[in-house]
Amino acid sequence: MTRIAITGAAGRMGRVLIQAVEAAEGATLGAAIVRSDDPMLGIDAGAIAGLQPLGMKAVASLEEVADQFDVLIDFTMPEVTMANIEFCRQHGKCIVIGTTGLSDDQKAQMKVAAGEMGIVFAPNYSVGVNLCLNLLRMAARVMGEDSDIEIVEMHHRHKVDAPSGTALRMGEVVAETLGWDLKEVAVYGREGYTGARPQKQIGFETIRGGDVVGDHTVMFATEGERVEVTHKAQSRMTFARGAVRAAQWVMDQPAGLYDMQDVLGF
Ligand code: NAD
Repeated sequence: MTRIAITGAAGRMGRVLIQAVEAAEGATLGAAIVRSDDPMLGIDAGAIAGLQPLGMKAVASLEEVADQFDVLIDFTMPEVTMANIEFCRQHGKCIVIGTTGLSDDQKAQMKVAAGEMGIVFAPNYSVGVNLCLNLLRMAARVMGEDSDIEIVEMHHRHKVDAPSGTALRMGEVVAETLGWDLKEVAVYGREGYTGARPQKQIGFETIRGGDVVGDHTVMFATEGERVEVTHKAQSRMTFARGAVRAAQWVMDQPAGLYDMQDVLGF
């Protein structure tokens, strides 16, 4: 039985993660952690997630529950995630990270920590998006050199980072396949007299509004035809189920930095 702790338990993803752990076979909720000023502090984790009481109150620090879990699932914000990696490293725990918007420096620190612990880090835990990453590799191989590649994403109005981690990952996968450096070829939005579009470019457009869980489209546009790879998430449960699967999987792996493609065996 994998004992899973969830930090950011009162957040949009945190609540659904509690539901996903409760629904999973072979997993049990070990602890729920919220911010010290969160109104959900001290409330039963089941109630936070809209379930029956689970007999476990949300706490404000990992220290309080250090002996109650094996894997931490963290969908919070970059600086919190970095502190939680360090806690898990010191206490022999694995961590599954969903937080997006990490800097290059933070990702480098995570890689160092993964020398001593199991870490799964993915900008998107849905099976469908991970399938799309493979479809994108194929599309880039077949059409990439001849087409204009544009990535459009839309998310709910509360999202704080842009473009989404998933859009960036999609761009990285396409760039890697073509032997391009994403930093050199990426363009984030366009305005004014931009001149004609060079072919060796990947454009990102970000839309924010309403309650959209996450839409992504990657276009390969040539003269005469256009291929679009689109994914639309309709429920956060798709990410939560994937993260719980990753938590159960990483327990049996040696120390290292993994992503959802590893978990799914792609
Ligand atoms: P949210 O703002 O609803 O939730 C984040 C929660 O973390 C909040 O409740 C906040 O109070 C809590 N928090 C902050 N500091 C904390 C601390 N020190 N201890 C405990 N809790 C703390 O945001 P969200 O929509 O749930 O998204 C969270 C992150 O997950 C974002 O980075 C988002 O992009 C990412 N995300 C990733 C995936 C994926 O599949 N990888 C899917 C959806 C969202």
